Amino acid sequence: MAYSNNPADIAVTYLKGVGPKRAEALATVGITTVEDLLYYFPRKYLDRSTLLPIAQLQEGMPVTVMGRVVMQGLLRARKNYYEVVIQDDSGHLPLIWFNGIKFVEKRFKRDMTLSVSGTVTSFRGLQLVHPEVEIIFDTEEEARVHTGGIIPIYPSTEVLKRNFLDSRGFRRIIRPALDQYTELLHDLVPAAVVQDAKLLPLGEAVRQAHYPESFEKQRAARQTLALRELLLFQILVADRRNRIAKQHKAHEIQKPDQSFGAWVKGLPFRLTKAQNRAVAEIFEDLYRPHPMLRLMQGDVGSGKTVVAAIAMAQVARSGFQAAMMAPTEILAQQHYQTVNSLLQGSGLRIDLLTGSTPKPQRTQVLRGLASGESGLIVGTHALISEDVKYADLALVVVDEQHRFGVSQREALMAKGKSPDLLVMTATPIPRTLALTAYGDLDLTVIDELPAGRKPVRTALRTEGDRPKIYSFLREEVAKGNQVFIIYPLVEESLKLQLKAATKAFQELSEEVFPELPIGLVHGQMKRDERDEMMRRFTAGEIGILVATTVVEVGIDIPDATVILIEHAERFGLSQLHQLRGRVGRSDKKSYCILMTEMEPGSEAYQRLERFVESTDGFKIAELDLELRGPGDLLGVRQSGVPAFRVANLLTDLSLILTAREYADKLMHNELSLTDEERLRLKTFVKQQRERESTGGIS
Ligand code: ADP
Ligand code: MG
Repeated sequence: MAYSNNPADIAVTYLKGVGPKRAEALATVGITTVEDLLYYFPRKYLDRSTLLPIAQLQEGMPVTVMGRVVMQGLLRARKNYYEVVIQDDSGHLPLIWFNGIKFVEKRFKRDMTLSVSGTVTSFRGLQLVHPEVEIIFDTEEEARVHTGGIIPIYPSTEVLKRNFLDSRGFRRIIRPALDQYTELLHDLVPAAVVQDAKLLPLGEAVRQAHYPESFEKQRAARQTLALRELLLFQILVADRRNRIAKQHKAHEIQKPDQSFGAWVKGLPFRLTKAQNRAVAEIFEDLYRPHPMLRLMQGDVGSGKTVVAAIAMAQVARSGFQAAMMAPTEILAQQHYQTVNSLLQGSGLRIDLLTGSTPKPQRTQVLRGLASGESGLIVGTHALISEDVKYADLALVVVDEQHRFGVSQREALMAKGKSPDLLVMTATPIPRTLALTAYGDLDLTVIDELPAGRKPVRTALRTEGDRPKIYSFLREEVAKGNQVFIIYPLVEESLKLQLKAATKAFQELSEEVFPELPIGLVHGQMKRDERDEMMRRFTAGEIGILVATTVVEVGIDIPDATVILIEHAERFGLSQLHQLRGRVGRSDKKSYCILMTEMEPGSEAYQRLERFVESTDGFKIAELDLELRGPGDLLGVRQSGVPAFRVANLLTDLSLILTAREYADKLMHNELSLTDEERLRLKTFVKQQRERESTGGIS
């Protein structure tokens, strides 16, 4: 690499105190350059000026106090315990440990300054038992040098801590790096935006984010940094939107004629108002000369497939092709069947193409697509295989988008000449996230379920309820209904979990329900075995299906009335909502039973209680975003949403909107930029685009 004083080009190992081992540890949290380190921001701050003096503590108070270690040692009462005494200007306070004594003994030294948090208890005087501790300064000397009132507390991990990169370790390497490098940071955000949005200069913002002079300055720094981050991301989004919107479609979709209307009227049900609105919005887009880029969101069971099928049918009737891509074999098959039966009376038919389509059939399907004889196709990733050629692909429908990456979506689009795009998702996405993850798409929301659906009754149960639950399941199956029993799969211990599910299956089939037809599906099974099992369940040959989360998406089984979810606390709420959507898909009364061994009153238990009370997918998604972050909602790496360093997708809606505005202005050249600024942005967009096409940003 040529010499550069850009912190983005300087490896962290250039910093004093960072050797190869520490560099390796830092890399685990994404820090490889000095710039990365400067963008590693505190998770909170300690304000010395507002800390409570020790003398003012009272029993029962939750507190954070700061003091210097004046004494420590192992004490013996009925049981060994370790005591560390800290002192501030007003008094002293004992800290007590009964466990982990060896660790504590080594960790603290006389004259260290500690910040400690906990609830004050009383035992021959006030004390904190097992407090949470941050080492703020190692020596009195260090404490004297640092005169600022606000101290940054950095996030850390086990790996980092093993390399002495706890909060204190970070302060030691970041502080000098700030002095030396902040002014050298390259700012991609043009001066015109900085001025117009009244942002702090980049270097100043970075400094104030680490060592703020006041919380007001810290807030301004945060706003500045979050907006910059969001703006750069929205520039990429706008670029994508622009690139496609500029294209002219090669096809012209006709307006529906009478026979089309008759076909829609003849469908086995009447469309809901929301479905009609969705159809209208999509058709408007189809007539336009520029490609449609639309996201259709609708809760599980809201009837998105029908809407897509109607659009696809009209495209085929106009003499072009439409393709629908689903994330799994089973779903593709199900869509195939659904769409096929909907198409009755339309004079159209649809083909299926998946990884397991037999060779002769595959050859035939490919021929039909290449010649244009086949107008409609549904399938899996197989649709984007290199040898699949389309005569004139005009509409691309992508189901359950969060299972696909942007690049897969674009790969299918590349098979046509500027086709229209319709993305469908059943995970309702809060607006902030939609603007980010799907910022390049227009939004259609189906916010209504078909009439006659009864809400799924949801209950939270514990081990003691099991006998009652089992006899309830037995009754349901006796009525001809079907039951899902779901086990969570946690990736770290796939084998163990699988063993649990398999063992549970054995117990259930041999001891609990020996008289009932019961099946097992899991992700490690061969695909055809799994498909066969799903087929038998769908056909009603099996009463109870024990499953890991492979049934999560889309599956439609009208007779399934109960879903029992084991270890419910291990699922994200949106995931639970998806699972719950597997039942209640007819007018039968349906139930979702969550099993948990969490203590009532615990955080996990309360989270589940909130789920039990809510049937609104959007509310649940917001709750999920708040509690677990966007990864759970979108399926982490696939989503195309980077892990923002400063911006918060839950709370920064107005910043996201502002960032979008500026991104649009930049796209449409409404701000005056210097040539250098323009070039920098161009290079940035180009680099990111390349990175995206080779495996997604993040
Ligand atoms: P999702 O939005 O979850 O993909 P689907 O399109 O699979 O929902 O529809 C769920 C079920 O509801 C299907 O069995 C479908 O046939 C049925 N359905 C769709 N629209 C209506 C409607 N307007 N009235 C009654 N049933 C409908
Ligand atoms: Mg669906």
